Amino acid sequence: MRKAILAANWKMNMTVEETTAYLKTFLAETGDATDVEVVIIPPFTALAQASKLISASYSLKLGAQNMSAHKSGAFTGEVSATMLRELFVRYVVLGHSERRQLFGETDAVINEKVRAAHEAALKPIFCVGETLAERDGGQVEAVLSRQLRAGLAGLGHKEVQETVIAYEPVWAIGTGRNATPQQAQDAHAFIRREVAAVTDAAVADKVRLQYGGSVKPGNAAALLAEPDIDGALVGGASLDPRDFAEIVKAGKTAKSR
Ligand code: PEP
Repeated sequence: MRKAILAANWKMNMTVEETTAYLKTFLAETGDATDVEVVIIPPFTALAQASKLISASYSLKLGAQNMSAHKSGAFTGEVSATMLRELFVRYVVLGHSERRQLFGETDAVINEKVRAAHEAALKPIFCVGETLAERDGGQVEAVLSRQLRAGLAGLGHKEVQETVIAYEPVWAIGTGRNATPQQAQDAHAFIRREVAAVTDAAVADKVRLQYGGSVKPGNAAALLAEPDIDGALVGGASLDPRDFAEIVKAGKTAKSR
């Protein structure tokens, strides 16, 4: 059984004060159920405060939105895996389409970061997904295959198994237009087959796949009911603690069936 994983990517939102208020409301709404894993992914500046507030919770984990591939040194503005570990960060988002598109991160850079995360015992939430032009051009599987094989290159089977792979079609991120459950399921089934091809069937069966792209309380249940969708990476709707709590509840219900 794969444990469902629901993650809140706050992007460049939330001050320390707002983080405190958010977590108070969110924890009151969801309690501390351990049947799903919930990951809060604040900006770097709010990680320490979030870490303090969620330390007593078993099922709530902390994630970071990015990290450097380097261990330390002259990399102004960067944050290392060790620095994140010090704040009890467990997950790190890598390969997000905003990093690929706005900050020029290539498949090769993302692979360096994925490997550096594992070396530091941080679990990557590794994002892949096609643009609208690529989907319209019938390129979905080719793009996913390229991104997956490049991003996972050099990892052992255990590391691949501990990588969370987020399928995030670029045309669905922040647009209000989510992939249909069938579109998402087809992509997830393909990703699982690709993972089997680069590792083996046992790893592919255990690796967790999240869908991301305009997930909201109203569409989460249908997406999460699909057999190869093990969770969600949520941007916009995760900024409201009550909306994100609804999505977590939808995940619990869908995956306890
Ligand atoms: C994201 O940025 O990872 C994301 C899925 O955003 P949104 O939910 O706003 O589409």
